[in-house]
Amino acid sequence: MKPTHIEHLGIAVKSIEEAIPYYENILGLSCYSIEEVADQKVKTAFFKVGQTKIELLEPTAPDSPIQKYLDKNPHGGVHHVAYAVEGLQSVLDEVAAKGVQLIDKQPRKGAEGLNIAFLHPKSTFGVLTELCEHP
Ligand code: ZN
Repeated sequence: MKPTHIEHLGIAVKSIEEAIPYYENILGLSCYSIEEVADQKVKTAFFKVGQTKIELLEPTAPDSPIQKYLDKNPHGGVHHVAYAVEGLQSVLDEVAAKGVQLIDKQPRKGAEGLNIAFLHPKSTFGVLTELCEHP
């Protein structure tokens, strides 16, 4: 695998609406998209910092993975790091062959129409790792 850049950082928040003013008024970023990803039971808000994005994640259901994260981290926090790669399926096959535990054996659709897949934190020194590919 040769990631080209950090595609985004996924940050869990209780409320996107409450978090946006910090990102806009303090950090000076602007939210360019709010999108619900029903499949992952989250609402997302996106900001650009150079080539990298900040993805705020708010749970939309009690069994959302983001709600589970917030139960353990009530103030929110960095939930995952997403690397941009090319040829996602072959990257997944390659890292699986190297013994990495995959959450997604095949790419699925994430926010912004990207193909995404997660690697298990057990295999990544505790960092939930997402790989993204522009379709
Ligand atoms: Zn993400």
